[in-house]
Amino acid sequence: MKKIQRKDFIKGASIAAVAASTGLLAACNTKKENKTVSINTNETYDWKMVTAWPPGFPILGEYAEKVAKWIAEASDGRMRIQVYGGGELVPALEVFDAVSGGVAEMGHSAPYYWAGKLPAAQIFSSVPFGMTARQMYAWHFFGGGLEMWRELYADFNLYPFPCGNTGGQMGGWFNKEINSIGDFKGLKMRIPGLGGKVITKTGASSILSPGGELYTNLERGVIDALEWIGPYHDYLMGFHKIAKYYYYPGWHEPASMMELMVNREAFEKLPNDLKNIITVASGAVNTLMLSAFDQKNMEYYLKMKKEGRVEFREFSEPVLNKLKAYTDEVMEEITGKDSMSKKAYESFNSFKMNMYDWFKISERNYR
Ligand code: CA
Repeated sequence: MKKIQRKDFIKGASIAAVAASTGLLAACNTKKENKTVSINTNETYDWKMVTAWPPGFPILGEYAEKVAKWIAEASDGRMRIQVYGGGELVPALEVFDAVSGGVAEMGHSAPYYWAGKLPAAQIFSSVPFGMTARQMYAWHFFGGGLEMWRELYADFNLYPFPCGNTGGQMGGWFNKEINSIGDFKGLKMRIPGLGGKVITKTGASSILSPGGELYTNLERGVIDALEWIGPYHDYLMGFHKIAKYYYYPGWHEPASMMELMVNREAFEKLPNDLKNIITVASGAVNTLMLSAFDQKNMEYYLKMKKEGRVEFREFSEPVLNKLKAYTDEVMEEITGKDSMSKKAYESFNSFKMNMYDWFKISERNYR
């Protein structure tokens, strides 16, 4: 064990000062600490983090590794986290149950994976025609989103942190043109989640297909179309070799929020400085993962444009308007059946409309 030279006691006030300065930490500590807090600096924590990403998955898996590394470094080795790719300790889609049950103390994934169990979780991740990454962060940290998300996960012994965002995704790969909403009819498309529910209303089928089989399924016509992530990941999958059209915008996932979930019981037992280190490390991922997505997607979008093999197409306004109307129907159905979804979506939607007003005048591309 590393020899740690530091005072055994530090002032609670200094923790509070750090907390106040980041703004992120306010919701982290369950109790206000005004007294001196004792920290046992000899105690070390060897934790496991399970993830929903294939081992070594670009950006998403990389940042799960990074957050574990930063926590170890910032805690001077007092907290060490072994990261597991999907399937290494538990299957990718069992991250929620594994962390909830304490098989691992941490998990990195996306809240919308848990829609079957918790429909409201999708709203904390991404909603079709929803908010951009920046708007989502503002809603979570300052608009009540994160508070509701924590309320939702509390019953499952989980404590979530926003931990990265993909930014705007692409509308997907097609081998036929989508000129009107009628062109979706009969289409077999891999598009999971809320987007999948929306396209079902057009007469298309939402097909579930594991990532590893997508290329073969599109090539063999098992599916006619698919959406994955954005130019960088899609290029690595090779979809540009077998599909003619690459549509935008990614109306179904304007910004998909990732999560770092921590077993609540384990989290509450941590000294405050380690709690704060986890909070700050996950906060750093929010900026850096989004920047990594933006940089890589720009690079691969330009690369694909230069190579000229694929045609970029924009969904027309009438197509988008119809998809939006179907989205409203889908959200009405979900919120009608589940009170937490209703509460979260009402908050999400009113925050979004106010943000739209502000962004209309505040964000512009200068050239
Ligand atoms: Ca996607």
